[in-house]
Amino acid sequence: MPLTDKFGRGIHDLRISITDRCNYRCVYCRTGTNGAAYAELPFDDYLRMARILVGLGITKIRLTGGEPLLRKGVVEFVRELAKLRTTTNEKPDIAMTTNGHLLAEVAQPLKDAGLDRVTVSMDAVDPDRFARITRVPNGFDSVLAGVRASRRAGLEPVKVNCVLLRGFNEDQIIPFGKFAREEAVVVRFIEFMPLEEDRVWTPEIVVTLDEIVKRMSEYKPLVEIEHQRSETARRYLFEDGVGEIGIIAPVSHPFCGHCSRIRITSDGKLRTCLFSVWDHDLHELMRRGASDEKLSEFIVKVVEKKEERHHIGEPGFVPASRTMVHIGG
Ligand code: SAM
Repeated sequence: MPLTDKFGRGIHDLRISITDRCNYRCVYCRTGTNGAAYAELPFDDYLRMARILVGLGITKIRLTGGEPLLRKGVVEFVRELAKLRTTTNEKPDIAMTTNGHLLAEVAQPLKDAGLDRVTVSMDAVDPDRFARITRVPNGFDSVLAGVRASRRAGLEPVKVNCVLLRGFNEDQIIPFGKFAREEAVVVRFIEFMPLEEDRVWTPEIVVTLDEIVKRMSEYKPLVEIEHQRSETARRYLFEDGVGEIGIIAPVSHPFCGHCSRIRITSDGKLRTCLFSVWDHDLHELMRRGASDEKLSEFIVKVVEKKEERHHIGEPGFVPASRTMVHIGG
């Protein structure tokens, strides 16, 4: 019986944050200071967790953070993950979300180790704006080099994620449409969620799916690609078939009813929702010597109680117990 919650949702996507340190300080994610970081576990501990979870029905693993490429040994970790076998005896699908700053050098080694795909976060295609968002000077060229190296390495489709903030980078919509076409990457806009360290979120700051589609269509007509219920992104092709964009709209068009994700934080806590107000200490159980069977039982029980949905924008919304950078986006 695959991992299932009490609402009947099958859980097959796992996100593992391997560090919550980051070399960027994006204005909508982090405070201006470096802030405290949670513990990082040895890769063997994440590997054991992943092995147990894959044995319970996980088929997709995404490495994230913080910035996952800050961890030395990440290529070897991917190589070990790639040796795992799903319940149907296949290699799990392995992906990574990264800011791309350190990607150019490791894209090919990651591919060779068994990474299937990469998603690079990039919130502007204008280098100055990019620097203002990330609060790091001269990062744009490194990230662009990372995107291109990923394509060359065959980590495809390379996806580029952009979070839009009203009054800050919403004018990047059409430039990103051009970017998708010219660089042959899938650009995905993500609606801004209240998961930031500085609590700047308001409903008004969110640039919604409908607005993005309207604005992009003024540049070139879009045709929606039929989307599967389990897909988080609405997908669109430009009418001439060149360039794909996607929109992930957890705020204006929530998809909790089809959520198939769980997360492990860098310090080994299991989280069943981005907006969980508590997490579950898998690593503490391991530290106390629990067997694989005991850990499996614990995971099954925790997953069963996965939250039904988030409550963004509703009266009485309770913020998550951790911000995005400390959960693993
Ligand atoms: N450092 C890596 C990166 O930049 O991709 C991985 C971690 S980062 C937290 C993962 C993704 O979460 C990024 O694409 C980032 O833009 C997105 N993100 C961060 N805060 C967010 C928020 N409040 N709402 C929506 N997306 C957010």
